[in-house]
Amino acid sequence: MPPANADEPVVPPAVKLRPEILASPPYRQGKPAGADAFKLSSNENPYPPLPGVLDAVMSAGAFNRYPDASALALREILAARNGVSVDQIHVGSGSVALLSQFIDAAAGPGDTVVYSWRSFEAYPGLVTVAGATSIQVPNRADGSHDLDALAAAVDDRTRVVLVCSPNNPTSTVVSADAFEAFMAAVPSDVLVLLDEAYAEFVTDPGAVRGLGLTGRYPNLVVLRTFSKAYGLAGLRVGWAIGPVALLDAARAAAIPLSVTQTAQVAAIASLALEDQLLERVALLSSLRDRLAGGLRQQGWFIPEAQGNFVWLATGNETDAANESLLDAGIVARAFPGSGIRVSVGEDESVDKLLSITRHIVESLPAGHPARRLG
Ligand SMILES: *Cc1c(COP(=O)(O)O)cnc(C)c1O
Repeated sequence: MPPANADEPVVPPAVKLRPEILASPPYRQGKPAGADAFKLSSNENPYPPLPGVLDAVMSAGAFNRYPDASALALREILAARNGVSVDQIHVGSGSVALLSQFIDAAAGPGDTVVYSWRSFEAYPGLVTVAGATSIQVPNRADGSHDLDALAAAVDDRTRVVLVCSPNNPTSTVVSADAFEAFMAAVPSDVLVLLDEAYAEFVTDPGAVRGLGLTGRYPNLVVLRTFSKAYGLAGLRVGWAIGPVALLDAARAAAIPLSVTQTAQVAAIASLALEDQLLERVALLSSLRDRLAGGLRQQGWFIPEAQGNFVWLATGNETDAANESLLDAGIVARAFPGSGIRVSVGEDESVDKLLSITRHIVESLPAGHPARRLG
């Protein structure tokens, strides 16, 4: 076969593909940050791995063998910590993989998956791949979930409701009381996935805590990840806790052997060093509060931030504002027409960020939703 010619025009494939897949934008990662720029676009943990975690990973070895398919050693630890059986814990290659498994297990063509919007950018694609239909319920003006509207959007076609707390990208939480009322309003044969990827950063005492709800609801699964607070984003490991029958359905929908031994070993080592990791998390949460406070002082309206990121509701000014950030060496995640999510990174990144956001907020027209009222 002749080598492919790089100059050859890209033609639409003649191979028959699913129309909804052809219509979907392929996943594109944020721009890589230049050497002197701060990468604040993926809500990553800015701290390098702890030496103990690195050592465990380096000595994991034996790459010629497949991993333990069920991640039993890790599940045993998570089960013991949460007072549940090992079968009430399921481990996946990141919580995005878990979301995909649960959605695939519950929803197909003709079914709906209900979630707030704007929320995690992976949700729409996962629903499309399952063949199901997204029902997006607008966030409230302050960026938070409207749980009443979410519950009202559930009908007899609904198979899954996704609740994201803290919500990516607005950083708002769902309160424990509101979540309880929501669970009472949603039929118990509809799967509710509580996506708590940023739970460790939450300092609001009124926020829902999924792990405290274990055993309360037959239709609730809580998703957690080692990617953010534990700093293992590159190794891909997350976990679910919930009723065995629901986790079994996800296990049936999973791609076998996708959680590597390295990831399992790193997660176990991280739990053993949790005190040190949670100290870092506490520093990041207080840095977040300093960032949010600084932005508000400059005149920004900042939704109550509980993740390791803040939301700038720049709306139609998003492209211009993002250009200013890029010029200043800040790589954030811009959602054109909507807003900009900025992760809490290194200490110095916060000062750098605040020095430029001051000018951005001043350039916004009076009455712009990203500006604080009054
Ligand atoms: C980052 C994130 C995840 C998890 O990512 P994984 O790396 O796949 O564990 C899940 N949900 C939300 C809302 C996130 O922001």
